[in-house]
Amino acid sequence: MKNHSLYDQLQVLDPQEKELGARERLKAMERPLLSWYREHARALPWRDKPEPYRVWISEIMLQQTRVEAVKPYFERFMEALPGIKELAAVPEDRLLKLWEGLGYYSRAKNLKKTAELLVEQYGGELPASYEELKKLPGIGSYTAGAVASIAYGIPVPAVDGNVLRVVSRVTGSREDILKQAVKRRMEEELKAVMPEQEASSYNQGLIEIGAIVCVPNGSPLCSQCPLASICIARIKGLTGEIPVKTPKKARRAEEKTVMLLWQAGRVAIRKRADTGLLASLYEFPNVEGHLEEKALLARLGVKEAKITPLPAAKHVFSHVEWHMIGFRIELGERPGGDFLWVTAEDLENTYSLPGAFKTYTKLIR
Ligand code: SF4
Repeated sequence: MKNHSLYDQLQVLDPQEKELGARERLKAMERPLLSWYREHARALPWRDKPEPYRVWISEIMLQQTRVEAVKPYFERFMEALPGIKELAAVPEDRLLKLWEGLGYYSRAKNLKKTAELLVEQYGGELPASYEELKKLPGIGSYTAGAVASIAYGIPVPAVDGNVLRVVSRVTGSREDILKQAVKRRMEEELKAVMPEQEASSYNQGLIEIGAIVCVPNGSPLCSQCPLASICIARIKGLTGEIPVKTPKKARRAEEKTVMLLWQAGRVAIRKRADTGLLASLYEFPNVEGHLEEKALLARLGVKEAKITPLPAAKHVFSHVEWHMIGFRIELGERPGGDFLWVTAEDLENTYSLPGAFKTYTKLIR
């Protein structure tokens, strides 16, 4: 990426630009932002054909997941479920299998729920209205803004973490970007200044700058940024302090003992409760705490089994961490319990287990 010419003129522009208010600074972003985006936009599979369905699916996949990780999932998903009708009709297990590894499975379930609603109430199309999009399950203001602007060219902002960071830095805002009220205000500010005819490039340009130039970790690449000449955080040396985020609460640690119960060449899995963490997904049987072998057998109600310890594992969710130990337990007879006994092949092709169990899933495969 080459240095932008505006940055080269910085010394000349600085004295005037410091006088600009936040609104003027946002207004001044438009031209450098659009010309930078035309030159630097990354080629991404969902950008080739920005159809509403493709934009929607890509945006949901990109929540909490890196672009590079999403690419192969997106291609595979589009091939398997090329439209809203196919998504609405897909069995949940098949959908979760396609989603396996992306994490945050409620996203996939909401996609299906929304697709069903779209078939029933919207003729199988995503509505070309920001307000209507926002009413759909799993679609918040960011995703509604992205679909409306990128797929339909509607001039509404799409404010995600990247945009919050860039705009805070450009305007020198020290407001906490994790607060909903701050996000809403930023959406209003951007809506007031964004170009009517180029909403898609404007939003994508801002997101892209946040993703590859005004980066969240480490120093932003100000010398390559088209907004450098108007950016308060750069001018005043505040990039280490802005954006402001209130520290999150520490995660709760939970100990678990995971059991790979084998009987006659099949391993036990079961479905989790239909609410709460990893709702309705399959899992290996597990119990709270780090249990000894004897205690495990007592829990299962069996006297004898061949038990082999397995590696420990840790999985971090947003509010909780699982610290797991595991055992392979070979049983002569099936114990009671709500288990599904499956082969390694079933596990590979049909049932999807969340990434939290990947250390143990790998041992089956
Ligand atoms: Fe650009 Fe640097 Fe300002 Fe971020 S902090 S918007 S990279 S000039």
